[in-house]
This record gives sequence, C-alpha cells and structure tokens, in this order.
Amino acid sequence: MANIDTSVTYAGPRADFASLTGSPFWGLSIDEVVSRIKRRGWTHNSGARILTPYGMGPLVHHFTTPSGRDVIWIPAYGVIEGEKMFGPVQIHKAYWLLWQAGVRVLLIGGTSGTNDWRDPAGEATVRPGDFIVPWSFYPDRDMPGTLPGTEMATGYLPNFAFLKDPFCLTLGRILADKARAELAPHPFPRVHEPSQVKVSLRNPYLGTFETEFETAVWRTTTRLVSEDEAFPHVMIHGDCISPVLARRMGIHLGYYHIAVNWVEGHPATQEAITDTLDRLYLDVLPQVCLEMELDLLATLDVPVDCTCAENLVERPAIYMEAITRAR
Ligand SMILES: [Zn+2]
Repeated sequence: MANIDTSVTYAGPRADFASLTGSPFWGLSIDEVVSRIKRRGWTHNSGARILTPYGMGPLVHHFTTPSGRDVIWIPAYGVIEGEKMFGPVQIHKAYWLLWQAGVRVLLIGGTSGTNDWRDPAGEATVRPGDFIVPWSFYPDRDMPGTLPGTEMATGYLPNFAFLKDPFCLTLGRILADKARAELAPHPFPRVHEPSQVKVSLRNPYLGTFETEFETAVWRTTTRLVSEDEAFPHVMIHGDCISPVLARRMGIHLGYYHIAVNWVEGHPATQEAITDTLDRLYLDVLPQVCLEMELDLLATLDVPVDCTCAENLVERPAIYMEAITRAR
C-alpha cells in the first residue's frame, strides 16, 4: 500500500471524549484555546503531533477535567498547514488518532452557508447566525469512508456501517436543548433540529466555496424534495467530516453547525459572503462554542438510547475468508 506505514503504532493519550471542532474556533489561536481550557481548571497533559500510518498527524491536545475525565481536542478538523483541507489524508489521520485513542463520543462544530429555498425573512428559515443540528449529509467522492491498512479498509467487512441517523440522535438532542436554553435568541436567533427541518451538509469539495450553479441546483432540489415529502429539507454548504468513519468506529458523533452566510449566488443577499462570516468568526463563535463544548465534554454520558450501535452491523466471519489476506 503506497504511502501507508502499517507498522506505526499509536503512542498518544487515551480518552472517551473528544472534539475535532474547526471553524467555530478559528477566531482564536490554538494556544489561546488551550489557555481558555486551562482557565476552567482543566489540566493540560500534552499537546503534540502524533505519527500515523498516513504520515505525521495533527496536534493532539490532551486534557483532564477537574472530575478526572480525559478529553482530547484535535484542532481544526486535523487540518495541517500545507496539506489539503477536507482531503482524504487529513481525514484518515484524524480518524485514525481518534480511533486509537479509544474515543466514544466526538463533537464536531462547523460553519456553513445556508441555501434555504424558503422566504429569506421567514421565521422558520435557516438564516445566517442560526444554530443547526443537521439531519444528514450529501456524500461526495472526496469523503473517506474507509481507513486503508486497517480492519476498516474494505468498508464492507467485518462490519457494515449504515447511514440512517448518521449523526447521533441523543447528542443532537442535547446540543439543540443546550443551544435553545442558553444561546438563543442571543447570540443565535434560532435553533433548528431535524424534528423541524431536515438539514443536510454538503462538503466544500474543490478547496473553495460552492458555485452559483451548485447553489441553484441544491435550492431547487431541496424545494422539490420538501414538496414531495411534505416536510422541509434544506442544504447547507460546509464541513462534514466523515460521519461514515465515526459510525464504522462505533463513535457517537454530535455535529452542530452555525450558518454564517448565505451561499454564493443565493438571491437573499447582496452582502459579500465574508461580511457576516468574519463578524461571526471573530466576535461570536469562538467564545460561545468553546464554552458550550467544554460544558458538554465535561458532563456528557456515552449515549445508550440512540441508533448508532444498531446501524453498525457485524458481517459473518466467513466473508473475511473469501478475500485475499494481506499476510
Ligand atoms: Zn449515538
């Protein structure tokens, strides 16, 4: 296997709870995030890059909460300077680290452009500034669903990951409840969750934002799906860090998004995309989202009443005997 060193063994911290959050924290340097976490009384045990089979991995920061819980934070979805963002190598490294660390509950916060097809002034419409618990995602060719060189390499054996409820329902409910109770209507005017609107995530695929044509296609598509199902569907365009791998690893993934702008070419706005985006990134999101995540990471239980486990299905062992073995 090219560029994969399967002899690498994990030499990092272990933790049940982790965050891979990226853009909501982008208004703070990594050092500042670490300082703020320490100011909550958490012990900072280590912060170092860790070798993975796919090359040198991103920083892994390991903390212990005052009650003795281990938590790790990998900054910015595992993005490394000079390497492709949201590309397969980044995702393989990050998820290999989370898997090896034994993570069972993962929070990822993201930001996105909203492509809601409904009345831009409507109270139910997903608008810039709103807090979103997504329902599903649109897979693209760059989203890794397997971990080459490991037992999760085939995608089909020895377990199969179904993508019903790709984001943990229990964690989603907890995120929505907390946002609604503590963070709405300020700083987030509205909180959207799948019981009200089925929001799907669309990864930035080309290393840039969406085209105007893509915006038009998804706005029209989601309007038609909504009419067909008599239930609102909306696409938002932003990070979606492989819910497939989380499921395959048995990790409960709590994903939240904040809409920071309308997508490129959306008729609702003449404002430059970066006007609302930078204002939120610098003045609102880092403070609010970091505190929210730390509250949750310190107190969450590993969910037992969700559908994550039933959507990861073991396949008969004989199937593994039917493929060429590596050694
Ligand atoms: Zn779950």
